[in-house]
Amino acid sequence: MSATLHRRLLAWYDAHRREMPWRGHPDPYAVWVSEIMLQQTQVETVRGYFARFIDAFPTVAALAAAPQQAVLKAWEGLGYYSRARNLQKSAQTVIAQGGSLPRSSEAWATLSGVGPYTAAAIASICFGEPTPVVDGNVIRVFARYFGWADDFRKPPARAKLADWLQPHIEASKRPGDFNQAMMDLGATLCTPRTPSCGTCPLRGNCLARSEGRQDEFPAKPVKKTAPTRQALAVLVRDESGRALFTQRTEEGLLSGLWELPNSAVTRKPTRRDALRTLREQTGLAAARAEPLGTVTHVFSHFRLLLHVFAVAAFSGAPDPTRRPPACFAFPDDLPLATATRRALALPRSRAPRSHRNRGSTAHWQQAPRRDQAP
Ligand code: SF4
Repeated sequence: MSATLHRRLLAWYDAHRREMPWRGHPDPYAVWVSEIMLQQTQVETVRGYFARFIDAFPTVAALAAAPQQAVLKAWEGLGYYSRARNLQKSAQTVIAQGGSLPRSSEAWATLSGVGPYTAAAIASICFGEPTPVVDGNVIRVFARYFGWADDFRKPPARAKLADWLQPHIEASKRPGDFNQAMMDLGATLCTPRTPSCGTCPLRGNCLARSEGRQDEFPAKPVKKTAPTRQALAVLVRDESGRALFTQRTEEGLLSGLWELPNSAVTRKPTRRDALRTLREQTGLAAARAEPLGTVTHVFSHFRLLLHVFAVAAFSGAPDPTRRPPACFAFPDDLPLATATRRALALPRSRAPRSHRNRGSTAHWQQAPRRDQAP
């Protein structure tokens, strides 16, 4: 079985390979540019960018000599701009070292922004080096093929796969095509959700296919459950429908955004907690607060339960000297955190308009009036 793996792969590749502008002309500079663009980006998106980039910077010397702003402009919209900066920095390194591009994966990997996968891809495609690429596509194909449950985020599992592939890429005599065949197979047939096993050249020996367990491979690492944090927020509206906001500090999570006056809690908060928070955060006093609802918002590393209270009547006015700053404003006039927008969207039937104390002073910051209240 194994002896014919490379033949099956290459026969399939010869018949079904994806046509790409950088294929068929193994110019190492063009392949390098394409591989850097393909990091984090789909092939279809890269096509247009690649053509324009090569047009603007046709050689490594042209790229090295270009103003950085021109390089970034050509990259505009592709994202992950460190890729463009590293590409140009490495082009300058190549020129400084005499202008010859590296030939081995080892030498390619010394350049900024070139990792083991990219180095192996360029060296195999352009210089015939028999070094297998191991990326997400290749891992998915062979984790399914063998039914390997290893954690492929870890180097030993990747090394195990690379070791297994090594004799096959050598036997293929076409290292660049062998690597590209694996990439194409993973990208077009052995896809994450619905692999097209019926037309796969590896289907005869694929364990996942024979057992109907394609969904199980590669094994997904157990996600840690994000901790839950709780906070209370107080919604106060003035006579014109503006809400009272406080601003987050200039550092840390959501820095500089505005939100409802709030405080962290470790248990389900009470009305009294809400009134105290309002007073401590803004200086405003109120006699009654009513629970309005709870908003759940998931951040990257925790889940927030935001218990929202509505205050019907208050006295006083936001003090401009307080920290955090506070003001009445319409939501569209301030940058708001998403959880705040969702709190504002809670049904308003239980959140009656406030009646400001007639004796209170003017608001310190007057947001422009909108035609419609939020
Ligand atoms: S047979 Fe199916 S699961 Fe197995 S390698 Fe091919 S596409 Fe992937």
